[in-house]
Amino acid sequence: MVAMWHNHRYHRQSLYHQYRPSPSSVTSALVEFQVPRKSSKHVRGVLSLSNASSTCGSMKELMQLHAQAIKLGLSEDRSVVSQILFFCAISDAGSLHYATLLFYSLHQHLLDSFLWNTMIRAHAKSDAPQSALHLFDEMLSQGSVPPDKFTFPFLLKACARLQALHEGEQLHSHVFKSGLAFDLVVRNALINVYAQIGMLESARRVFDRNPQRDSVSWNSLIGGYLKHGHLEEAGRLFSQMPHEKTLFSWNIMISGYAKSGQPELAKSLLRQLPSEFSNTNSPISLTCLISLYVEAGEVEAARRVFDSMGEKDIVCWSCMISGYVRSGNYMEALRLFKEMQQVEENVKPDKVLLVSIVSACAHLGALEQGKWLHAFIRKKLPSASREGEISCALIDMYSKCGSIKDAVEVFHEMVTKDIMAWNSILCGLGINGYGNDVGMYFSEMLKSGIMPDRITFVGILGACSHAGLVDDGQRYFQLMKTYGIEPDIKHYGCMIDLLGRAGLVSEAEALVQTMHMRPNVEIWGALLGACRKHGNVPIAERAARNLIELDPEHSACHVLLSNVYAAAGQWDNARNVRLKMKAKGVKRVPGCSLIESKGNVYEFVVGDVSHPRAGEIYSMLQEMIERLKLANHVLDTSQVLFDVGDDEREVALGYHSEKLALALGLIDTCPKDQIRIVKNLRVCGDCHSTMKLVSRIYEREIILRDRNRFHHFKEGSCSCMDYW
Ligand code: ZN
Ligand code: ZN
Repeated sequence: MVAMWHNHRYHRQSLYHQYRPSPSSVTSALVEFQVPRKSSKHVRGVLSLSNASSTCGSMKELMQLHAQAIKLGLSEDRSVVSQILFFCAISDAGSLHYATLLFYSLHQHLLDSFLWNTMIRAHAKSDAPQSALHLFDEMLSQGSVPPDKFTFPFLLKACARLQALHEGEQLHSHVFKSGLAFDLVVRNALINVYAQIGMLESARRVFDRNPQRDSVSWNSLIGGYLKHGHLEEAGRLFSQMPHEKTLFSWNIMISGYAKSGQPELAKSLLRQLPSEFSNTNSPISLTCLISLYVEAGEVEAARRVFDSMGEKDIVCWSCMISGYVRSGNYMEALRLFKEMQQVEENVKPDKVLLVSIVSACAHLGALEQGKWLHAFIRKKLPSASREGEISCALIDMYSKCGSIKDAVEVFHEMVTKDIMAWNSILCGLGINGYGNDVGMYFSEMLKSGIMPDRITFVGILGACSHAGLVDDGQRYFQLMKTYGIEPDIKHYGCMIDLLGRAGLVSEAEALVQTMHMRPNVEIWGALLGACRKHGNVPIAERAARNLIELDPEHSACHVLLSNVYAAAGQWDNARNVRLKMKAKGVKRVPGCSLIESKGNVYEFVVGDVSHPRAGEIYSMLQEMIERLKLANHVLDTSQVLFDVGDDEREVALGYHSEKLALALGLIDTCPKDQIRIVKNLRVCGDCHSTMKLVSRIYEREIILRDRNRFHHFKEGSCSCMDYW
């Protein structure tokens, strides 16, 4: 039995060797505590089964209790040890590291199935689920405690998370030998592991073999079919479910449709939801209902349920806030997060919520709030602030807020750097124009033994493109094949951008022709953008024709093409495109800029007058234009293509949303502060040169993130070297 288990993939260093018991390991951790005199009855009382986790709010309190327990000679008391270990391993305020230290310091005769199962369970849901399999290994080789029906479900969950089929199958045969093949909970876990890994036939076999099933069995199987794209089969099973469908079953089905890109199916199923679910009073059901509306894209309906609830737990807040993030309403997400901080002092944000709120800051370019969040995470979840997902979200946030120094700092603080971490920093350096540093980071990454993947190269090629490093870009593009990565449409997009920006428009078009897949909207758009910059009318016309064929509603295409004509002085053609666009009813995506000032985020559109300080903003704008004129700045009107006189054109340029944001920045921030603006479209030539001049005349650093890249304006020049 032990032998067959031994050849599994995760046979690296076992936990035992990492946590080799030393006489001092646990006690030395406890030395710092001044132990007040308490009776053994008191300690037992505090640690009694019913209230261990409710009495201890933190590891500090737990360690105090533990120190007392040792002093009173209870360190070998089974119920005391079980309670301490359970708290450390399972509670949110616990520490799995401490639990593991404690576990390995215990005498073998104390290790019962409860302790083994607690450890396996905790490791299975940790960031390193393979440790659960190591523990199982050790449990088998010690041989004193056989696995039971509580052991397998946790192990199988670990396999599902690791997508470890081989280990899952081995566990299946262990289940068989242990005589647990008929236990419903164990069988459900087996169905789930096969379904999650995509071995749907195996899942189905376990499901069919025994008629005893509950809604969990059905949900697991349906979930597997949905995850692997068999929507029809999932739908059929869902309608056949003999059990009362729980709200959870509806949730799986609806979110499955939504995730498979079938929002209409999701919405139509939502309309069939039995009314008793919407009239429930149970907080769990209401939270489930919120997530269901969020999945189906009905954020407003979700909010109504949310508002109707009394006390809300973290899952509920998290669900609603990430709903706003996913639907792109970042401002409301941030607002609600702040409200949560004020209203619910006891609710502790979890990782999922923090990742999504950090990403909201990234989208909004809200650096101040992002920094506040970072400090908050350091304080509330100190260990998580240096781990995978949150760190990557922070790197991304700092990069997108133009604060690459902070991004690099977070990266270097990370305990283990996986491929996601390297990709985040490479992409961050790229969009901020640090193309030269990317090569250094890339070779460091290789040295540390991490193999690049597709995203790595998207980051690197993007970096080369933003920094105008044509030769480097071409070298990396060739290098991809060495790592067995065929360039996909994103890599081609970067290359075309790279060549196009450098003025190699014909080379870019030639590269499009060599692509072994159909060019998409982004590819033609990049080519068209290059033509706008370098004025190549014939290629622009070809690119635009292809682009319109793919997406007749593509407004940017019409705008770019008319810009190309306008720049070449072909005003009739420019006007024609404009007229066609109007006739077809193509709507221009309205430009919109965000600026963060004093912890608030403000939004501006062209000619916006909605800001409470609109009057001051417009006088500032007027002053700015006057001072720029004195500096001999002539408005660049080649980019506005309305058939209007120059005066009106000037006005239209003057009121671009990024200029309004800039004016607010000048009056609302302190004189030495950076001004940071986020724009949803590409910045126009006039706004770009305005920003350059303002950075010199007003002695302000301005950081503008437009749709494609960053512009750091300082002392009259821009980091993009006018290359965007
Ligand atoms: Zn502009
Ligand atoms: Zn620039």
